[in-house]
Amino acid sequence: MTDSKTLEELKQKLLDEKKRIEENIARTEASRKRMDREYETAFPEIERDQEENADEMEIYESNLAVDESMKAELEKIDEALLRIEKGTYGACSNCRKEIPLERLQAYPQADTCLDCEK
Ligand SMILES: [Zn+2]
Repeated sequence: MTDSKTLEELKQKLLDEKKRIEENIARTEASRKRMDREYETAFPEIERDQEENADEMEIYESNLAVDESMKAELEKIDEALLRIEKGTYGACSNCRKEIPLERLQAYPQADTCLDCEK
C-alpha cells in the first residue's frame, strides 16, 4: 500500500479536483439558469427561427451532458476519499489488485486498474 505521505498528496489532489469540479458545476448551472431566463424574457411570444432554436437546444443539451459527467466525476472523487478514510484506497474494485501508483497520481479517483478499466 502507498505510504502515508503519498496518500496525503493524493488526498489533496482529490480535494483540489473536487473543488474545481464543484465550481464548474455551479458555473454551468448558473449559466443554464441565465439561459432559461434570457429565453423567457427575450422571446416571450415571438415565433423563433427553427434553426436558431435547434442550435440553442444543442448548447443546452451539451451543457446538461457536461453537468452529468462532472457529477459522475464528483461521485468518483467522493468514493475515493471514502476509501482513503476506510484504508481501502488504491486497490482495484474489480480484481482487488493494487492500482499502480502512476495511475493514481494521474487519476487519483481511479477505482480500477487499467486492465479492468477496459
Ligand atoms: Zn483490476
